[in-house]
Amino acid sequence: MAGKDQDVSDWDVIVVGAGPAGSAAALAALESKPDARVLLLDRAPLGRDKVCGDGIAPHTVAALDALGVRSVEPHEVVETVKLSAPGGASSSAVTSDPGYVVPRATFDERLARAAIERGAVFVERRVTSVVPDDSGVTVDGQDRAPVLIAADGANSVVRRAIGQGHNAKRALAVAVRGYAPTPKGRPRELEIRWDARRAGGLCYAWSFPTANGTSNVGYGMSAAALTNGRAELEERMRLLLPDHDLDGVELSGHNLPLSVATPQFAVGRVLLTGDAASLINPLTGEGIYSAVASGIMAGRAAVTDAASAGERYSRELREKFGRQHRQLRLVYPLVDSKAVLDAVIRACSTNRGTFDRLLDVGLGESSFRMRDVGTLLRHLVRR
Ligand SMILES: Cc1cc2nc3c(=O)[nH]c(=O)nc-3n(C[C@H](O)[C@H](O)[C@H](O)COP(=O)(O)OP(=O)(O)OC[C@H]3O[C@@H](n4cnc5c(N)ncnc54)[C@H](O)[C@@H]3O)c2cc1C
Repeated sequence: MAGKDQDVSDWDVIVVGAGPAGSAAALAALESKPDARVLLLDRAPLGRDKVCGDGIAPHTVAALDALGVRSVEPHEVVETVKLSAPGGASSSAVTSDPGYVVPRATFDERLARAAIERGAVFVERRVTSVVPDDSGVTVDGQDRAPVLIAADGANSVVRRAIGQGHNAKRALAVAVRGYAPTPKGRPRELEIRWDARRAGGLCYAWSFPTANGTSNVGYGMSAAALTNGRAELEERMRLLLPDHDLDGVELSGHNLPLSVATPQFAVGRVLLTGDAASLINPLTGEGIYSAVASGIMAGRAAVTDAASAGERYSRELREKFGRQHRQLRLVYPLVDSKAVLDAVIRACSTNRGTFDRLLDVGLGESSFRMRDVGTLLRHLVRR
């Protein structure tokens, strides 16, 4: 065993990152083992912002409800989803399970505080050193546990420390986000406007209304196709959201590591979760649900049996998301085709089942069935 001396504090599990993945991991560990010593480290204080669309899928709310955590409030609900195709057609529906829009500073703090209330010890510190060995992991030379859960996001230092490189550009999206006044008279709906350009993957603007009169607006696209940095993202956003007053809106950018290329989910005693494991859905940019779901599995595995935690966690994660990941790897290159996007909208407008399925694949762990592919092909042929 390396690095153990009397100045090192011992824990049952160390979680690096107090975003949705990290807090869910701490909550699940403490649910499985209420007396577990859980260290939750984050470089930022509680209540920090995270560049995001702030769209909280019903799947996320359900997973957190099951842990006894109230993550959303009734006034934050947004029941309608509207998808607009490059050709101008659109499809909108009240969803059977509604989503929510909660600024991440608020949402993430709710989760982290719930973990702290149940016994996690939160320490504000930027992790710089992660040294794994056969029986555990030492962090920054001062904390040690038999298992470490990496929940430190898209630019994970832990992932790098265990020799798992970050996603190449073709498996990465980039996006900008800001808060604009919600246009007067605009219905309260989560709107995604797909772009007409061939960008090799994910490429759209969104407008998600918060509960305080602003809308979270942004634009994201494949990093491989970006030629003019943030200016290009801003220009496309203005083009796709002409009904929003974007003057003076402060924009921030961030990466989205897409699940079209994932690292090894566990290496020895280190388990990668959420964005650190590249779990973002490439169809929608949704990553909070996969962060929470993976965090829960990692937290449970970590306190059940440290020696087999990595193997158990990787197996469970593959069982849950493996089929979707394989399928979306094939589908992803097609999502920038105007013909495909128009056909999707036509299929959704005429078939409620297709609309629901699309949301379920885009927000949860589902995958498409042969019947969905048949419906889409029929609409493609009929155009
Ligand atoms: C523009 C944009 C829009 C998006 N919109 C949506 C959306 O509407 N809905 C959705 O579901 N998903 C969306 N996503 C994806 C979503 O934001 C992420 O998938 C999600 O935040 C992943 O959660 P996480 O806990 O893995 O990582 P994060 O939320 O990034 O949390 C990581 C935490 O680790 C901490 N940290 C990082 N490095 C260190 C370190 N060295 N030491 C200590 N702490 C550290 C950070 O401070 C942070 O608190 C969007 C992403 C972007 C970029």
